[in-house]
Amino acid sequence: MGLNLAALLSQTAAARPHATALRRSDAPGEALSYGRLDEQVAGFAGALRDRGVAAGDRVALMAPNVPGFVIAYWAILRIGAVVVPMNPLLKAREIAYYLEDSGARAFLHLDALSTEAQAGAAAAGVATVIGFDGGSSPLPQGERPVASWTPRGADDAAVLLYTSGTTGSPKGAVLTHSNMTWNAHVGAIDLLEATPEDVVIGTLPLFHSFGQSVAMNATLATGGTLVLVPRFDPEEVVRAIVGRRATIFLGVPTMYGALLQVLGDRDVSSLRRCLAGGAALPVELLTAARERLGCPVLEGYGLSETSPVASFNRADDWRAGSIGKPIRGVELRVVDGDARPVPVGEVGEIQIRGHCVMAEYLGRPEATAAVLDADGWLSTGDLARTDEDGFVYVVDRSKDLILRGGMNVYPREIEEVLYHHPAVAEAAVLGVPHEQLGEEVAAVVALRPGAAASEDELREFVRERIAAYKYPRVVRVVAALPKGPTGKILKREIDRASLAATAPS
Ligand code: AMP
Repeated sequence: MGLNLAALLSQTAAARPHATALRRSDAPGEALSYGRLDEQVAGFAGALRDRGVAAGDRVALMAPNVPGFVIAYWAILRIGAVVVPMNPLLKAREIAYYLEDSGARAFLHLDALSTEAQAGAAAAGVATVIGFDGGSSPLPQGERPVASWTPRGADDAAVLLYTSGTTGSPKGAVLTHSNMTWNAHVGAIDLLEATPEDVVIGTLPLFHSFGQSVAMNATLATGGTLVLVPRFDPEEVVRAIVGRRATIFLGVPTMYGALLQVLGDRDVSSLRRCLAGGAALPVELLTAARERLGCPVLEGYGLSETSPVASFNRADDWRAGSIGKPIRGVELRVVDGDARPVPVGEVGEIQIRGHCVMAEYLGRPEATAAVLDADGWLSTGDLARTDEDGFVYVVDRSKDLILRGGMNVYPREIEEVLYHHPAVAEAAVLGVPHEQLGEEVAAVVALRPGAAASEDELREFVRERIAAYKYPRVVRVVAALPKGPTGKILKREIDRASLAATAPS
């Protein structure tokens, strides 16, 4: 197995030039074969080279899930440059931060007319800015196409992925050719068990690690078809599954909830496997999804810093509520505050070591040292326990842990109870400041369309099912929970002060 990530697409294109690589869910008849994709990548790589972009340069790429993202991503890699993916919703100030922090040599953005992108690029003083059209018009093509990839070392950077990590402002996780190539192959072989006949729904953002490694890279490594859904809209995803006879769906938990709500009695029997990750998949939702989608729904776990997949459930060896076992070649352990492994069943922090672990945070030796020790163990900030069979169960993120009157309360446990209530669509439990207790437990809930439940009723529902010190004294029903670009619920954006104001003293 070569360890140049760029080789992955070239090899599939050489082996299967006529197979369909990409489709767009919003442009039905249109398809791009591997041969055509490879030509466009070669041409755009030529255009980048003509503009002076060279191996090792960092190239920012800001676009939603459209063919232009895929073409640009592989073109950057082909000339040995480093991809810096960026969320297309960023504003000028944020764009400037990412461009400056990464030292971007060039900035490619989808919307040629975007004033935010132009202002961000101007503030950061980036030499080369290319605004391209995400539709069907091709990206600029160079005089001479770049047919073969530029050699890079396995430990050279391939992708610089921005993440807040466990704390602080966004940092660039340096993911090497080895990191990304391994994750693509493990994703294809072990997680998806992919074949060239697979049709994969690409609705997870490709600028985020889960969509990038497991939807895009694993599919393109195998020769299957990636159906790009530019924005997550459950109706459009269902139409794409039905219309394209999709075989694989990948999503974060909130996407499964939304899909089940709109599915009705439509035929999704083409699906043979679904993967969930990015956040805890409530057991209630997992069970409902397996039943209705009629195929295994397998939960995996990881971080931007682990390329991202570090553990997963196998179709023939899985546990509900578990993140499974570490992927091959990777070690995972659960440790106490002194980095000593804790006994089976006890809660500690997850540490990960192996080929998926990033090289460093770019230009931040202290932040790197805070999470990566001399033996190569990465501290994740996620709390978990293991069972006798080696399955790992995330109980929560350490920063989400609630300390109520000196007692540990894990929000996830309470969220799992709330998901059992028939009216609950989404739930987030969090700690809010409290004078006597330090923190009080609060729950914010969005209801299913058409369903009704009062805040009192929901509080009583949990109170009857959980130890008295844990149940949420504050319950608030809202129209929608704040979500990040991948669809993960963002607890930090919930207004804790206003919840605290209604907590009993
Ligand atoms: P990101 O770097 O944005 O991908 O976020 C990584 C974080 O997502 C991890 O540190 C976990 O807190 C969370 N996460 C990812 N997958 C899971 C999962 N299956 N169960 C619980 N938390 C998860």
